[in-house]
Amino acid sequence: MKVLSVLLLLCLGLISNQSFSQKNAPKVVVGIVVDQMCYDYLYRFYPQFGKDGFKRLMDKGTHFRNVTYNYVPTFTGPGHASIYTGTTPSNHGIVANEWFYRPFGREVNCVEDTTVSTVGSASSYGKCSPYFLRSNTITDQLKLTYPSSKVIGVSIKDRSAILPAGHLSDGSYWYDYATGNFITSTFYKKQLPQWVNRFNELLLVSKYVNQPWNLLKDSACYTYIQQDNSPYEGLVGGKTSPVFPYDFSKATPADQLSLFTIMPAANTFLTDFAIQALSNEQLGKHATTDFLTISYSTPDIAGHTFGPYSLEMEDMYFRLDQELARLFQTLDKQIGKGEYVVFLTADHAVVPVPQFLKDHQLPGGYLFLKDKIDALRTACVATFGKDYLNTIENDNVYLTNEILGSELEPQVISFFKTEISKWTEVKRVYTKGELETQTTENWQQMVASGYDKERSGELIFILQPGYLPKSSDTPGSHKGTSHGSAFNYDTHVPVLFYGKDILPQDVFTPYEIVDITATLVHILEVQRPNTTIGKPMLELFKTR
Ligand SMILES: [Zn+2]
Repeated sequence: MKVLSVLLLLCLGLISNQSFSQKNAPKVVVGIVVDQMCYDYLYRFYPQFGKDGFKRLMDKGTHFRNVTYNYVPTFTGPGHASIYTGTTPSNHGIVANEWFYRPFGREVNCVEDTTVSTVGSASSYGKCSPYFLRSNTITDQLKLTYPSSKVIGVSIKDRSAILPAGHLSDGSYWYDYATGNFITSTFYKKQLPQWVNRFNELLLVSKYVNQPWNLLKDSACYTYIQQDNSPYEGLVGGKTSPVFPYDFSKATPADQLSLFTIMPAANTFLTDFAIQALSNEQLGKHATTDFLTISYSTPDIAGHTFGPYSLEMEDMYFRLDQELARLFQTLDKQIGKGEYVVFLTADHAVVPVPQFLKDHQLPGGYLFLKDKIDALRTACVATFGKDYLNTIENDNVYLTNEILGSELEPQVISFFKTEISKWTEVKRVYTKGELETQTTENWQQMVASGYDKERSGELIFILQPGYLPKSSDTPGSHKGTSHGSAFNYDTHVPVLFYGKDILPQDVFTPYEIVDITATLVHILEVQRPNTTIGKPMLELFKTR
């Protein structure tokens, strides 16, 4: 396998000097993912956006207003993989951020790779690659078709830099929590490029983290100005109340490196880096289209802590808007207006804090799993004389190896289905047999699209709308929020295209997240990647 890939790379290298260009493709495509961005943020925050950030995409680009995720679970790894492969986890194999992996007998991270090493730090945060990604990305397809094209991926999160830029990436860079550097792995290269070293030497994190996070605008610009001290927000950095300013200058250096990633300054830091990548990697200066993938992780890190209806998230987006404007202005200058295409979307959205929903007489709540799992194990022993439950992770039920393939397996699976179906917090329970069978039921289809026989459990359940799974009932478990469900609060995300040959228009046709890659295929003039199932978003090609 390794020999083959070396040969492939050699071939790519050999033909990369040939000069040719596509018919009508842009010089650069920039893919932007805003981690955890809900569709309605575009409208909630619109009055406070400047003219050149989100508004430029909304008013001068094509806005697909009805795009949803078509599978569960709606997590970061699966989201980025689905955007860039044009298919669902059932094909690309990224079924969660972490899952129980039977061949290793332990939990794995979706981008971990113990066979590679960190480049740019002595830490282990770089032991990553797209090893678990079973499909080609649109960026892989670009490199296969046009070897002179360059693909670069950047993000704070490893998975959000790695999965979009694919297997043939010319450089995927993510944040090292041990040093504050951008790092990569030996999967990509043996040493950091000089420009990345120079960027790291600026020590921007220590500069940014010592500047307190205050409100950007006048207090009249914020809806939640009176609710800063909210009971639904988590506490960070040793604070006793979740209120502005967020000043981490007194935190230990180690704590600062992690607290930094919740601050809007981390979006600035990533934009700084993306702009450096653009010029130093000569993006837009090659014979064929280059591709830069940027994923802003901080809106998700902060979103988990503060929830969508918080003063912190308002300010987060007002500031992110400025970073987008800076990026677009740089693209205008370096690539040229009308010479590039930008698209922006999200890897999932988010549910309002369930306790907030409950307190406002809306449906929602929590599934406290620890006690439930203990009771399940006891019931299993009472029925079969033995505990056959291995673990429950991401609402997937993994049975012990001993029972898999045995004569008793169908009875044990049926037992767990019956027992878990009794939990009032649970909406549906599906067995692997059901998930491998064709169905017209919407929820079952969505779960089946997120199912992989090697990586998923023997049963998968979904919770009722507005519910989140938690380990146990503590005061902290009622603060902050998460995502992962099949419901619209998690699945409805922004999708905007802007740039070369793209008309200003709002499109209401329903599309699915897998349609983005199927559309990029025609912007880039490449074949559909191996497992892409999406359909092109035809309205985008109106002028062509
Ligand atoms: Zn995410």
